[in-house]
Amino acid sequence: MSELRPRPTGPDALIDALETALGAAALLRDPAEMAPYLADQRGWFTGRAPVVVSPASTAEVSTVLRLASEAGVTVVPQGGNTGLVGGSIPDESGGSIVLSLRRMNRVREVDPVDFTITVEAGCVLAEVQTAAREAGLLFPLSLAAEGSCRIGGNLATNAGGTAVLRYGNTRDLVLGLEVVLADGRIWEGLRRLRKDNTGYKLAQLFVGSEGTLGVITAAVLRLFPMPREVRTALLALRDPRDAGVVLEALRSATGDAVTSFEYMNRASVELALEQVAGNVDPFDRPHDHYLLVELSSARQGAGLLEALESVLAPILEDGGVVDAVLAQSGPQAEALWRIRETIPEAQRLAGAGLKHDVSVPLSRLPELLERGAPAMLAEVPGALVVAFGHFGDGNVHFNLNQPPGMGRAAFMARREAVEHAIYELVAELEGSFGAEHGIGRVKRAYLTRYRPAVEVEAMRRLKRALDPAGILNPGVML
Ligand SMILES: Cc1cc2nc3c(=O)[nH]c(=O)nc-3n(C[C@H](O)[C@H](O)[C@H](O)COP(=O)(O)OP(=O)(O)OC[C@H]3O[C@@H](n4cnc5c(N)ncnc54)[C@H](O)[C@@H]3O)c2cc1C
Repeated sequence: MSELRPRPTGPDALIDALETALGAAALLRDPAEMAPYLADQRGWFTGRAPVVVSPASTAEVSTVLRLASEAGVTVVPQGGNTGLVGGSIPDESGGSIVLSLRRMNRVREVDPVDFTITVEAGCVLAEVQTAAREAGLLFPLSLAAEGSCRIGGNLATNAGGTAVLRYGNTRDLVLGLEVVLADGRIWEGLRRLRKDNTGYKLAQLFVGSEGTLGVITAAVLRLFPMPREVRTALLALRDPRDAGVVLEALRSATGDAVTSFEYMNRASVELALEQVAGNVDPFDRPHDHYLLVELSSARQGAGLLEALESVLAPILEDGGVVDAVLAQSGPQAEALWRIRETIPEAQRLAGAGLKHDVSVPLSRLPELLERGAPAMLAEVPGALVVAFGHFGDGNVHFNLNQPPGMGRAAFMARREAVEHAIYELVAELEGSFGAEHGIGRVKRAYLTRYRPAVEVEAMRRLKRALDPAGILNPGVML
């Protein structure tokens, strides 16, 4: 006669069951050890959890989710915990466990014929790039957090970064996924097909789902030929409206070799120069607007420098581009990129900041920059408008730093008013209030405000279909 096994219910019984199934080494319970998993990068969220569990295989992830759903305990999936919207942090109730993917960090395969790499979700993004490079290939996803964010987190947030213009978002880089559903069932979708029209593209459903529909455990990603010629330039602009002219001319002159097209306003460059040691202004005087441009080609001797010079000459003459620095070496290019990449750190060092990760159609970006600054400043006079980001994607980080003489608390109390000012303008310009970082806990209210009711209802139905008991990431996105 088979013995009826009682199902664990509640966190304590779940922890016992997890320890039995995975071993004590997979569990963190000491508050000091758990602390880094319970707070976000910005210090906006600190949650509580009875345990952080780190499975080492897909089968173990399946066990965790099966046991958690049997116990009725909710689960917060976590990668590198670099997300900027609080999606990887449990709430303060202490009722959710954290499922960290950090131990699932194997590169399973690099295939130079299929141009694919198959990786586990806990691989750090920089390690994926390195594994591709060692095979002579390029994995093009690149962002300032690449030394600590993990590929499962990149997939779950559909991360963007600095090469979207050329290669697309993470969504465009994925061919197949392996996902564990809320009840512990494993979906084996690790197909490496570039063409596969057999029903709904389930993998894409999980991309950008922020841990609310399933736990991504592995992925097949697209690789590209390694660039052999790369040219980097910093341009000083008269007006953001001239950026569109430069982009169009560069794209047609180079056969679409424009990989990055990053905007920085004067305040953001000034912050990076003042706050971060080692940054040097490459120009002899300040300018109001800058573009960091990178061109790349897999063909050696593609003539990118000549193309850059011939495109810039007439625009320099008519004053659209006021000045230009063309990097003459790898280290010079790195120094230019460092200014761009250290802006978030500089902003943090300079005091409290309100951050808005917004996008509009590229043609309307100059209007957003022009009208957005006074709209935000009307709410906090004297604040510093720090605008930078992925101009070529129509995406700008349109941030505000605390003004001199205003306390942190008073400044942060203006958050909702400032968000209202900028998001209303973005909506008018047919844009998005969440271009890159997602919804998480921070932007939930805006989903229902700015997206059609039918769209939100369809999302809720999908959530209910895949996670009927609401086990995964409660309070995030929906
Ligand atoms: C300095 C800095 C620069 C950044 N620059 C960019 C940028 O240019 N572009 C950009 O898009 N983002 C950027 N970000 C935001 C962040 O790095 C990205 O969102 C990144 O993709 C998050 O990866 P992560 O592993 O840290 O995920 P986490 O922060 O751990 O998690 C993010 C979300 O994904 C879910 N999740 C994590 N892993 C899984 C999984 N395996 N299965 C299911 N759900 C999962 C979590 O529950 C959470 O909702 C930046 C952040 C920092 C700190």
